[in-house]
Amino acid sequence: MEFADHGGLMARYVFITGGVVSSLGKGLASAALGALLQARGFSVRLRKLDPYLNVDPGTMSPFEHGEVFVTDDGAETDLDLGHYERFTGVSARKTDSVSSGRIYSNVLEKERKGAYLGKTIQVIPHVTNEIKDFIAIGDDEVDFMLCEIGGTVGDIEGLPFFEAIRQFAQDRPRGQCIFMHLTLLPYLAASGELKTKPTQHSVKELRSIGLQPDVLVCRSEHPIPDKERAKIALFCNVRPEAVIPAYDLRSIYEAPLAYHRAGLDQAVLDAFNISPAPRPDMSRWEDVMDRLTNAEGEVRVAIVGKYVQLEDAYKSIAEALTHGGMANRVKVKAEWIDAEIFEREDPGPHLESFHAILVPGGFGERGTEGKIRAVQFAREKGVPYLGICLGMQMAVIEAARNLAGVANAGSEEFDHETGKKRFTPVVYHLKEWVQGNHRVERKVTDDKGGTMRLGAYSAALKEGSKVADVYGAIDIEERHRHRYEVDIKYRAALEGCGLLFSGMSPDGRLPEIVEHRDHPWFIGVQFHPELKSKPFAPHPLFAGFVKAALEQSRLV
Ligand code: GLN
Repeated sequence: MEFADHGGLMARYVFITGGVVSSLGKGLASAALGALLQARGFSVRLRKLDPYLNVDPGTMSPFEHGEVFVTDDGAETDLDLGHYERFTGVSARKTDSVSSGRIYSNVLEKERKGAYLGKTIQVIPHVTNEIKDFIAIGDDEVDFMLCEIGGTVGDIEGLPFFEAIRQFAQDRPRGQCIFMHLTLLPYLAASGELKTKPTQHSVKELRSIGLQPDVLVCRSEHPIPDKERAKIALFCNVRPEAVIPAYDLRSIYEAPLAYHRAGLDQAVLDAFNISPAPRPDMSRWEDVMDRLTNAEGEVRVAIVGKYVQLEDAYKSIAEALTHGGMANRVKVKAEWIDAEIFEREDPGPHLESFHAILVPGGFGERGTEGKIRAVQFAREKGVPYLGICLGMQMAVIEAARNLAGVANAGSEEFDHETGKKRFTPVVYHLKEWVQGNHRVERKVTDDKGGTMRLGAYSAALKEGSKVADVYGAIDIEERHRHRYEVDIKYRAALEGCGLLFSGMSPDGRLPEIVEHRDHPWFIGVQFHPELKSKPFAPHPLFAGFVKAALEQSRLV
């Protein structure tokens, strides 16, 4: 469904904004709308405009901002792009996410190059033009472009974006752009009432900057009576059918079906005057919900990591595990365990009730000794193990120390951090690699932002290996985000101890996958498979990992 030939026709635009409070699920509503338009046969692309001033989300703390989602073309983006991909299957690109910081930095760079011919640089038109140019990228490729504006209406940082989308809709032919606004209807228990006033104010705020919503999505914990719906329509100047209730759901994957029942896609198509609207085929989402709600049994997976306080820090992993459960029609109960606990306590009592162990990606030394102990437990006890990125590096360090006799095996990352040489680096700082037909080089002293091996790279899997069996293929392509790499110098020694290098970069220089030969299911991967998993197409590694967990659950 990705790129229909549009013969140069411009996309229709849905601009999605939020009001009243943040965290209303704007990203989810946008993603679900994308899925619904696809279900009616249209092609879509989703795009996120973020008002914060960071130039890219790559250097933002996962504690504060949730995970960094990496695209095939190597952009480090916001986790909302992950939702977009999981709901539509359309691979996001660099040009699908932008922040104020990036916009301003582009404008200032152009100014330095003299592109504005010495004119006074202003928010209107220079910043707004930069935003409009961004919004229009690739608009001849799809039927619908859905652009979500981060934050809430009224935020100071958001103003240039709101102004830019107002101008954009004005520049385009009439009827080509619509506005969808998400709000909250708070419930007052004392009087047993839903209150519409915050929504009225939020729409008033929008209208004061020239934006009239066409569709209002109202989050509510209680049913919205028709009377209230009519009142919102009247006061907000929206048609009653375009006031869409959005109630809490059992699972995010219910959103497409729920929004469809609530009339969202119909309201959007009506706002564009698309009539008759093509009939939707909801079978993909019916199947997803069937798998989710009719799961038999449960497996318990321990995720041993560092950012355990905020689940969003590993959002894609949590989702990919759910998808793996759906592939096996079993419920996956993931529990997050702080790796540092294992530096003080024996992991055994903490881990023995789990059917599988996952060590996710991460940066920095903190918690790594605990992760290595979790790896050792999984290896020795035959518990299914999936190591992702840092989790693979931990598996290699564990094998080097405990099987191959490399005393002090460690990663250069930890020595760089402390400035001391304490480890024998079996994982070293990657300074050059091949991307397509050219060589990429990095210095240790390069800036923090953008110095990693990022985005899609292919790997060649060894025939007959466990991982080739899991994928059912030997040529794969996965997304990367790392600076350090397992040193092939140790390959022979480690393979001699049973840790096979079963996936390599096509030039044979970079280890991509390791697996323990004499273990029921132990795989470490240098990339992030979780980023490509979808509810309707679970990633084979997660499907395989959960299957192994299910087998383990039958043993214990
Ligand atoms: N810190 C490690 C590296 O840079 C692992 C990164 C990750 O887990 N994403 O190689």
